[in-house]
Formats: sequence, structure tokens, C-alpha cells
Amino acid sequence: MKAIAYDDDTAEVRVVHDWPHPLEPIRDHEPIDSKSQYQALVKVKQVGICNTDLEICKGYVKGFRNVLGHEGVGVVEQIIDTRTREAVTEHELLSQRVVVEINCPCAENADAVLGHRVQSSSIPGDKEVFDRNHYPRRTVLGIIARDGLMAEYCLVPLDNCIPVPSSVSDTEAAFSEPLAAAYRIIEQRICNLDNKDERVAVVGDGKLGLLIAHVLVVSGCKHVWHFGRHKRKLDLIAETEQKVVGDDIPDGAIGSFDVAIEASGSPEGVKRAVELLRPMGTLVLKTTCSLDADPASLPHWSQLANDIVVNEKVVRGSRCGPQRTAVELLANDPRTKTLVGQMVDHVYDGLEEGLLALEHAGRRGSLKIMVRLREGTAV
Ligand SMILES: [Zn+2]
Repeated sequence: MKAIAYDDDTAEVRVVHDWPHPLEPIRDHEPIDSKSQYQALVKVKQVGICNTDLEICKGYVKGFRNVLGHEGVGVVEQIIDTRTREAVTEHELLSQRVVVEINCPCAENADAVLGHRVQSSSIPGDKEVFDRNHYPRRTVLGIIARDGLMAEYCLVPLDNCIPVPSSVSDTEAAFSEPLAAAYRIIEQRICNLDNKDERVAVVGDGKLGLLIAHVLVVSGCKHVWHFGRHKRKLDLIAETEQKVVGDDIPDGAIGSFDVAIEASGSPEGVKRAVELLRPMGTLVLKTTCSLDADPASLPHWSQLANDIVVNEKVVRGSRCGPQRTAVELLANDPRTKTLVGQMVDHVYDGLEEGLLALEHAGRRGSLKIMVRLREGTAV
């Protein structure tokens, strides 16, 4: 089958025409390391390109030799019972349009080691999120040791399939993963939504920065300031309290925010976010970057560290969020539909155009680039 794959050994991304069909291991009776007894064969309809895909193509994931893509939508074409290796003939998800939760738990018991500590956590939902985001030896769709969605077919644990209502288009559905990642900040309860005076800064006006600013606004944060480089993009979120373009920081803004979210993926963005925080404020780091990045690229690290120590600032990492909630938001919130529609710069037609699409996604200033798969290819 056709697929877009990256090989870290050769540092090459290619459109491959003879990638093994994902049912081959089932047919060949190879062991399947998954917590889920049922596996879904998803025929991919549309897939979005994320900065993580671009970072993988720069060597972010050592040893990656897989199909790319973790933001997409498709139809469940078959369900396989991994115990009998037979297809299931009746299931409510058969022929359903779905998005796929990107973290896939392996067969190993999660209660081992780290998981045990989380079970004793008093924070509600921590255990569930641990299982979703941090399951020991998990694989991650198109990122860690698992083929992703930039292919005609993708095999995923059935538990990871989330049905998409008909009111959500393919393009909208392909936003569910990044939208969920933005929503993770709300799930982590980093912002106090009951505090109407709380000031939140979002640094970065790329795809993730926009979705984060939007999610904060629709979740009820009253004072969201958005820092970016392009007025055109900052203007996409009408309800932010202030839009700050470039280095033109208004008087009094430095040291005034309760929460500052770094979503620019740049060392300058980290520095900006830290300086915007008040003493004891919370810095949220949302972006990952290639391991080959210049180690000297984070300027003034000791200055940053001193600021964090002296002013007792809190640093929080934040990654994947609840995709079911994101699908609900896409189905029920007209503002979210409008925003994601405006964020699409181009939809390429067919996996053959994948390299063009990746190149386009990597251009400075581009927002969401997607690939729509053509109908009618045989298994
Ligand atoms: Zn992504």
C-alpha cells in the first residue's frame, strides 16, 4: 500500500508504494503487543501535518523507521480479534468514521513501577491520564515505534477509535489531536477558571498557539494575552484580551501573568514566557524540538534558571489531551469550527503529493496543511 515514511537511518522521507499492509502480521501470526484484544483496520480519509512530523524528519525520534502522521480521520473497515485472528462481523464501530487516540498501551501491566505511584495520587483523573499519556512501554501513532496515518491503512487498538459525528467534517476531525493537546492545559487544571482576575499569556501564534489561546477563551479564561509575530494570525482569535505583535511589549506586562504558556517552539519564546510571569506563577511548556537542535540555542539559560529559582516559578510540561472532548468541541462549538476552518492553508490531493505537503507545512508562517486520500485503492 501507499505510505509516507521516514527512515532515521538514511534521514530520508519518502512516498513508498509497497509499504506492508498492516494486516500482514495478523495473517502471519506474529505476536501483537497490545492491551486491546481488538484491533481496528482504519482506512484513512484525511491526515493533517503537524510540527512533530517535521521535527521527526529532522531526527527528533531516534531510530524512527515508520509511517508518519498522528492527526487524521478514517473509517473502520475491519475489526480483528487478536486471540482468534478472525474478523469480527458485528460491532458498532464497523464502517464508522473515527479519529484515533495517539497513545497506544502495550500488553504489559501498567500497574508495574511508575503506574503504581500514580494510583495512589489523590488528584482526580490522574490514573486515567497516566494510562492514556504515560503507559509503560506505550507506542505512539506515527511517533514512537508505531506506523501512523499517512498511509492508505493503519491498524490501531479498537479502544483508541473515537467515533466522529456527521456534523464534523473530515477536515475538522483531523484537528481533534492538536485541539486535544491544547485542551490538555484545561485538563491539567493549570488555570483557575473560577478566578476571574487570572491573567494568562500564550506565547506563539503558530497552529498550537492559536488552538491554545482559543481553548482558553472558550473555556472561560477572561484575560488571555496572545504574543506572536503575525497580526493576521493573532486576529483569528477575536476574544483574546490583548494581541501583542513582535517585541512591542506593553508597559507593565513583564512579571504580571499568573500563567504563561510557551507554544512558539523557540528559545526566545521560553525566555519571553518566563519573564512575563509573576513570582510563583506557572510556566507551561507545550512544544518539543529536534534533538539535533544547537545546544547553545537556549540563550541566557542561567539567567532563566535564576529567575525561576528566585521568583519560585513553577514549570509544567504539557502534552496530549482528551481527544473525545476535542471531538465534542468540534461538533458543538461553532467558534471552534470557524477557527479550524480558517487555519487550513491547503489540502493536498493524494499521498503522492505528500512530499509537497510536508515542504509546504515547513514553510515559515504556514498554518495547517493536510493530505486528503483518494478513494478506491485496493487492499
Ligand atoms: Zn501533532
